Amino acid sequence: MDLKAFTNSDSAKIILNSIKAISKKECRLMEFCGGHTMAIFKYGLRQLLPPNITLISGPGCPVCVTSTGDLDMAIALSQRSDVIITSFGDLLRIPSNNGTLLQARSSGADVRTVYSTLAALDIAKQNPHKKVVFIGIGFETTAPTIAAAIKQAADSGVNNFTVLCLCKLTPPVTHAILGSGQINLTGIIAPGHVSAIIGSDAWKFIPDKYRLPTVISGFEETDILYCLELLISQVEKNQAKVESAYTRSVPPQGNKVALDLMGELFESTRADWRGIGILPNSGLKICQKYQDFDTVHVLGLEVSQESKEVPGCICGDIIRGLKTPMECNLFLKGSCTPQNAKGPCMVSSEGTCAAYYQYGTY
Ligand code: SF4
Repeated sequence: MDLKAFTNSDSAKIILNSIKAISKKECRLMEFCGGHTMAIFKYGLRQLLPPNITLISGPGCPVCVTSTGDLDMAIALSQRSDVIITSFGDLLRIPSNNGTLLQARSSGADVRTVYSTLAALDIAKQNPHKKVVFIGIGFETTAPTIAAAIKQAADSGVNNFTVLCLCKLTPPVTHAILGSGQINLTGIIAPGHVSAIIGSDAWKFIPDKYRLPTVISGFEETDILYCLELLISQVEKNQAKVESAYTRSVPPQGNKVALDLMGELFESTRADWRGIGILPNSGLKICQKYQDFDTVHVLGLEVSQESKEVPGCICGDIIRGLKTPMECNLFLKGSCTPQNAKGPCMVSSEGTCAAYYQYGTY
């Protein structure tokens, strides 16, 4: 698809002027997706909007919401001489109670960065005498790709490949944030990629239960501005419904192939969210039929029970939208930088602290 229509500055100016013309009320809008956070900072949208509109970043960065307890489990696994750990790069740099996976690698553990689950499966095929573990993090967008790799492993008889499945589901955490009573919001920028899988109808509970306008957005500047225009229009008219500013990718019912694959391979389970805690039915676990590919089952792991934050790091509050990086004593002056990150929100390429740092919003 040609994206020029969505990156056209003339179109962006027209939508921005429309927003300025209709926006009268105070608006506190949360973007739940880390990709949106980065795009909003990259295009400088916060600075362009009228002062009555506040954008707040939420829990939509999968690296950021991975708990220290789950990371400790991964680090413990990496100490086994018969195991090769594979994962996406950002995860290797997140501090846990016992250091980082990158530090484990420096101490001799076999920890490898991969760019896809299938690449981890290839490593398993090339190392038949090792147990290859893929640390699977992500939301509904990533889960189908992990499911596909497990199916491929099963079909091709690979028996040394397992997944430590730490995938999480976005509607339950949205419920948790909105139902907590800790944050006052007037609208939700719903995630684009996740919605392409679960469909726009999956968000109906937000207006139904919380009376909040909800609009799904794409990732270009005009996508986000159009989303904001739709949201602000609902706010001004006292409406609360689900709309999509990303219809080119998001069908109402989602992606049936991906949803069926997830339904075949996974079942919902409790998940430990950094800064939020354990939420029932908010994570994905590999189902019994495919338990030979479940690291927890095959290697007899204890599922983490406890998570502690790195002292001084307020990522938990930032993930819940309660604070900004500017309120963290370690941000910049305390020497938390991408090169020396103290917490996941600075490590991740979709983290709020990294966005503040990279685009100089301080
Ligand atoms: Fe954590 Fe660093 Fe962000 Fe502070 S600036 S909240 S220490 S990641």
